[in-house]
Amino acid sequence: ADAPVRASLDDLPIRDDLRGLRPYGAPQLDVPVRLNTNENSHPVPEPVVEAIGKALAAELRDLNRYPDRDAVALRADLAGYLGHGLTVEHLWAANGSNEIQQQLLQAFGGPGRTALGFTPAYSMHPLLALGTGTGWQPARRGADFGLTVDDAVAQVREQRPDVVFLCSPNNPTGTALDPEVVAAVLDVAPGMVVVDEAYAEFARPGTVSALAVLPGHPRLVVTRTMSKAFGFAGGRLGYLAADPAVVAAVQLVRLPYHLSALTQAAARAALAHRDALLGTVASIKAQRDRIVTTLREWGMRVADSDANFVLFEVGGEQSVAWQALLDRGVLVRDVGLAGWLRVTAGTASETDAFLAALAETR
Ligand code: PMP
Repeated sequence: ADAPVRASLDDLPIRDDLRGLRPYGAPQLDVPVRLNTNENSHPVPEPVVEAIGKALAAELRDLNRYPDRDAVALRADLAGYLGHGLTVEHLWAANGSNEIQQQLLQAFGGPGRTALGFTPAYSMHPLLALGTGTGWQPARRGADFGLTVDDAVAQVREQRPDVVFLCSPNNPTGTALDPEVVAAVLDVAPGMVVVDEAYAEFARPGTVSALAVLPGHPRLVVTRTMSKAFGFAGGRLGYLAADPAVVAAVQLVRLPYHLSALTQAAARAALAHRDALLGTVASIKAQRDRIVTTLREWGMRVADSDANFVLFEVGGEQSVAWQALLDRGVLVRDVGLAGWLRVTAGTASETDAFLAALAETR
């Protein structure tokens, strides 16, 4: 008998707006130096491994039961970490800040509505819009990838989006936003304003988190993650801080029991050991500054960075430079920005390897 013909996506009655698309994702290649997804390169310290192991073990007997649907204890811990007078009511958690932002679009975007972002910014924002049927409105950043109050306000006024995404520090450019931009956008935006602060813990002194702007602004949402500074990317824990009404809104669209008992327990154990986990932040920032300084000494254009990565100009076709680095065992990110590449700041020896490979290719 003939083998059954394997169906392709095109054979399925898939949504028209998904037809012909490819799934998002950076290449996961097995190379010695992986600096392409802004992870924390430092492994989880042994005492924290043990603490998380114990916390998980304590949950196992009860895995016959559903977890706390509202993740109350975890949200209280997250509020304690953030400070700013925030409580459990202001916090919400999900499987990564990607899921948080998806829930925000499910609640405040959706068919017939729009979301706006200032590109280049985090490439998942338009993809989350697509997946939730939200129209996407790309807006521009200025020279050197900056975003001024006037530029931001003019574009929000013109497009009147239901959701505005701001990203601070911005991925892939690295620079934190002036809080005046957040305040000005809030003033003119007709809908929600989401500030994606995935990299907040790496900011240079003098930068201000939008958390400080939350009081009295129920249309403002700040999203954070444990994937970067906490080195907990594999644990999948993102969260938001906002007015309690926003938390009530996302509870309308979240799947019941979306956060497993194991995720909640592991994240709480990690938070309890935050000093050990966040202990790597200072050295990562030092590596970031070393990359910025060294590349500028070499005469290259480099964006200022408040994050754990650096955007640099390669001079020429960036995909060629990307491959040349990969050929030398160093994986960086081609974010599709003509002439530029992004490298994650990790350990000192990863910086050594990256700089040596880059020097060879110049
Ligand atoms: N926001 C930004 C700006 C990011 O760069 C990332 C990770 N690449 C995320 C959100 C999502 O991270 P996670 O879902 O792991 O929290």
